[in-house]
Amino acid sequence: MARYRSAVCRLCRREGAKLFLKGVRCYKPSCPIEKRGTQPPGQHGNAPRRGKALVGYGQQLREKQKVKRIYFVLEGQFRNYFDKAARMKGITGENLLSLLERRLDNAVYRAGFATSRRQARQLVNHGHVEVNGRKVDIPSFSVKVGDVIAVREGSRKNPHVVEAWSTAAGRGRPSWLAPTDAEMSARVASLPPREDIDRSINEQLIVELYSK
Ligand code: SF4
Repeated sequence: MARYRSAVCRLCRREGAKLFLKGVRCYKPSCPIEKRGTQPPGQHGNAPRRGKALVGYGQQLREKQKVKRIYFVLEGQFRNYFDKAARMKGITGENLLSLLERRLDNAVYRAGFATSRRQARQLVNHGHVEVNGRKVDIPSFSVKVGDVIAVREGSRKNPHVVEAWSTAAGRGRPSWLAPTDAEMSARVASLPPREDIDRSINEQLIVELYSK
């Protein structure tokens, strides 16, 4: 499967916002957005015309790219999520975000077992995560209400997991993932409510883009 292999901080600078793709560094002053602001990447990044406010199609496209990059999803898969969201009852934009939020790699990140979605995806891919007591190594696996997500017993001393777990409270945990009595585990208490998902996302722009 295709993967993005270049520097991820470029993606934040391209979108002009912190997308929190790099883990602990995103919360430190060494984050390039904190140090240099939101100047777009590339040698012409600070050319005057690059600073123009986007409208219409350009704005819709950038919003879609931003969400794809936040969740590390490629175009085809993102389109599939949109089509599924459009077929569901309710508001298409909110359905889309809920589907993305319910991905196992995202849930692992949001529960505090990883410092970024990329790291969470690696944990899942490498078999460190279980759902309802069974190993699941598919990052796109969609969690449902009642599922219990946990780091597998043999992986709980993994230094990356320990670091993520110890700093998770500072990043904030969403209300839809409730802690359980067991160590490094969380239960899906509800579907992800819109208030728990990045408020800077304007999902309506994505709906408008795909509805043309
Ligand atoms: Fe984005 Fe994190 Fe890099 Fe900052 S450190 S630019 S938030 S990926």
